[in-house]
Amino acid sequence: MSDKLLFTPGPLTTSATVKQAMLRDLGSRDLEFMQVVREVRAGLVQVADASPDEYTAVIQQGSGTFGVESVLTTAVPPDGKLLVAANGAYGQRMAQMARVARVPLEVLTFPEEGPVDPQAIARALAADPGITQVAVVHCETTTGLFNPVAEIARVCAAGGPREALPSGGRSEAEPPQRPRQLIVDAMSSFGAVPLPVGALGIDYVVSSANKCIEGVPGFSFAVCKKSALAKTKGWARSLSLDLHAQWRGLEETGQFRFTPPTHALLAFHRALAELAAEGGVEGRAARYRRNREICLAAMRKLGIQEFLAPELQGWIITSFRYPPHPRFDFPRLYETLSARGYVLYPGKVSNADCFRIGHIGRIDAAQTEGMVRAMEEVLREMGVIA
Ligand SMILES: *Cc1c(COP(=O)(O)O)cnc(C)c1O
Repeated sequence: MSDKLLFTPGPLTTSATVKQAMLRDLGSRDLEFMQVVREVRAGLVQVADASPDEYTAVIQQGSGTFGVESVLTTAVPPDGKLLVAANGAYGQRMAQMARVARVPLEVLTFPEEGPVDPQAIARALAADPGITQVAVVHCETTTGLFNPVAEIARVCAAGGPREALPSGGRSEAEPPQRPRQLIVDAMSSFGAVPLPVGALGIDYVVSSANKCIEGVPGFSFAVCKKSALAKTKGWARSLSLDLHAQWRGLEETGQFRFTPPTHALLAFHRALAELAAEGGVEGRAARYRRNREICLAAMRKLGIQEFLAPELQGWIITSFRYPPHPRFDFPRLYETLSARGYVLYPGKVSNADCFRIGHIGRIDAAQTEGMVRAMEEVLREMGVIA
C-alpha cells in the first residue's frame, strides 16, 4: 500500500530511495556519518550558488522554525536591532521570535496580497541607523508569493545614507553608506527557486530538510557568510540554538554538539544526489512549475479562484479562495480527498477563507492530474459544480 500524496508545504512526499537511505544505524562519531555531514554541508553551499571560501552551511536539529530562530537570535548583536519585513504568517513568526528573545525589533507589515516593498525597507534603514539586520521571507508560504529578495539584498548592501548615522563626524576612511546584513527565510523555496546567494551577498539563508530538497523532517540549516557568522561568538540568546557554537563544533570536531538526526541526514544526503540528478535547482523548478500549471488550469476550469493576482504567484504553493457556494465545505473536501489519497492543506491568509495546494515534493504531472480529477469529482458530489 502506498501512502497518500502530500500536496502540502511539508512534510512532503519523498522518493522510495530517500526513505530507503534511512535503513541504517550509524553512530554520531562514525567516520562514515561524519563524511555524510561534510558532504551535505558542502552540497548546501553549492545549492545556494555560493563559494565555499566565503560561505558555510550549519545544520541545526529541529524543524525549520528552529533554524530561523537560531539565526535571528545569534546574528543580531547585543546592541543591534532587527528589521522584519513581513507580508504573511511566516514573516510575522520571525517578528515573534525576536520579541520572545527580547531582540530589539522593528516590523514593517505589508498586505498579504502583495510583495514586500524594497523601497520601504530603504526608507526604514535611512530613518534608523540602529538597524543592523533585515529579515524577510523568500517564498511566503501563506500565499505562495515570491518576495523580491534580489532587490532587498541590493537595498541592504547600499545600507542607509551615511548622513543618517549619529554623527561623531565623518571620517574619510568610512564608507558613505553602511551596509546592513540580510537574513532570508528561504524555507519553502531553497532548492527549487534560483537564488544566487553569493552574488547577492546575502548573509544568512535558512531552509529545512523536508521542503524542496525532498528529505525527511529532522533538521534545518543555514547557509551563512563566514565573515558575518565569525563575529557572532557569544551573541546567542539560547544554548541549543547557538548558531556560532554549532558551526564551531561542526568545524572543529566534525560533530554535532547534541544528538544528531542521523537518519534524517542519511535521507538528505540521498535527496541532494537526487536533486543533482534532476538537473539541480533549475530542473526541480521545472517539475514544480509543470505541477502548478496543471493544477491551476484545472482549478480555473472548476471556477476556483486564486488568492493572489497571477503575476505575483510563485510555483511552490497556491492559495485558493473558498468557492462562494453554500454547499462548499472545506473539512469535507479535505476528508474526502484524503480518503482518495490526496492531502491538501488549510489556508493561513488572515483576511480571507482559503485553502492551499502545494506543488512540491516527489510528485509529478500525472499525480497532479489525478488529484485535480478527484477534486472535480468531489466538488460535483458536494453539489458545488454541476
Ligand atoms: C515551512 C516554513 C517554515 C518552518 O516551518 P516548520 O514547521 O518549523 O518546519 C518557516 N518559514 C516558511 C516560509 C515555511 O514555509
